[in-house]
Amino acid sequence: MPIDELHPYYPPLTPITSPWMHEVVKDHSLLSDLFEQYGCSPINLHHLQPFADNYKAYETVLEKHDLQHTIFFARKANRCKDFAREAARLGFGVDTASYRELKQCLDLGCNADKLICTAAVKTERLVQLALNNDVLMVLDNADECRLVNRLASQLGKKPKVGIRISGFNYKGDKLYSRFGFDIADVVSFIRQCLGVEKEFNKLRFDGFHFHLDGYSVKQRGAALLQTIELTDQLQQLDISTSFIDIGGGFLTNYLSDKAEWESFWDVLKKAIQGKRAPLTFRNNGLGYKMINGQLHGSPDVYPYYNETPKEQFLDNVLSFQHKNGETAACLLHKRDIEIRMEPGRSLLAQTGMTIARVAHRKRDARGNWLVGLEMNRSQLSSSSADFLLDPLFIPLQSSGTKKELTPVYFTGAFCLEQDIILKRKIVLPHLPEIGDVTAFPNTAGYMMHFYETESHLLEKTTNLVTHSKLPFSFIPDEN
Ligand SMILES: *Cc1c(COP(=O)(O)O)cnc(C)c1O
Repeated sequence: MPIDELHPYYPPLTPITSPWMHEVVKDHSLLSDLFEQYGCSPINLHHLQPFADNYKAYETVLEKHDLQHTIFFARKANRCKDFAREAARLGFGVDTASYRELKQCLDLGCNADKLICTAAVKTERLVQLALNNDVLMVLDNADECRLVNRLASQLGKKPKVGIRISGFNYKGDKLYSRFGFDIADVVSFIRQCLGVEKEFNKLRFDGFHFHLDGYSVKQRGAALLQTIELTDQLQQLDISTSFIDIGGGFLTNYLSDKAEWESFWDVLKKAIQGKRAPLTFRNNGLGYKMINGQLHGSPDVYPYYNETPKEQFLDNVLSFQHKNGETAACLLHKRDIEIRMEPGRSLLAQTGMTIARVAHRKRDARGNWLVGLEMNRSQLSSSSADFLLDPLFIPLQSSGTKKELTPVYFTGAFCLEQDIILKRKIVLPHLPEIGDVTAFPNTAGYMMHFYETESHLLEKTTNLVTHSKLPFSFIPDEN
């Protein structure tokens, strides 16, 4: 089929990509060398420059609002040690969520005041490490306060702590979270339990922390204003707050074209309704489904296309207005409260790419082309129902092959019917040869690592990192 007929049929989702990615994709001898040298697939490639650029973009917004600030990179979003090392080198903060994450940052020489520990479960070993190194912990519940108080007492420490909160009021409801103290109770908890001559006599309240699910600027703004109100209530009790930490969850925009995004959903809905051939594996609705002949549901995927990514999102939250007309930033500034944030995914925007080799091609009984890749779905996985970016096809073995557009599904190495790398059908310029390469761009935030397993004793991905300008030299991450 010619492209004009195929594209409306299988709408493209063109990813935002960076020059370094294009250089890599173009350089067939570099790619051949990497696969040969490391003898495995997939390989995760990383470039550290965009990491620093993303950080600077946040910093610029915080400076524009004239706020004291610390930005902590959420370490959990990517396993490579090199991001932690780079954060230490450039003086960013790092948000750690386990013993090893914290230990590694300390060993890399991160300053204690640039580290924070927000682990959802805090072991004695982790708490001791944080206490011994004066790293601020964000506490989630009374049992944690008890544990930290007991160990602090044993170690002769009087740690400053952050208190995690949730249950913000929004449109007449409370925003549910399993984390943190409820905002309705937290002021009396702090007053009654924290500090000298109280139950948790070693702990010193230093600030509040929250991290919201979802990507609503209004919810984030409302939560920030309500937290500022809590600090005012505490101030009346003579308890001051030095920081408010608004967590992570800043949007990343992955796609370059709004029309493509909208058209994809239109066409998908038609397919789910049986009005056209499927464009996802086994007609997966990605959150939509038919019930009694009616289309129900909503997209169960990350908002890959969005218009308020990263620093715009932050700017909107800080510019969110209190009912008296003052912005959140202005209220923070007046109170001399430091703003803190913990972006993970968004600091990793444009820093990574996953490349995988084609192992085989076949047709299924329905006539679909299935292209088996030397990788599995845990190596490109998140809580989103699909990774909705077109991969970049690299005809390492088949360059010069005549164009003949071929829609395919990419399948993986697990013995599972569901091991489909992308649920979306992808239109390739021609049927790939064995040894051709598929590059999945912008996978560094969660996609490549967060859910990776060693099922079947398949080896974990090799992670390579570069810092350089051309020609690139990729070096293994030492994690
Ligand atoms: C996961 C997490 C983050 C980072 O979230 P991103 O969506 O990657 O920005 C920050 N803070 C806390 C407490 C988290 O759990």
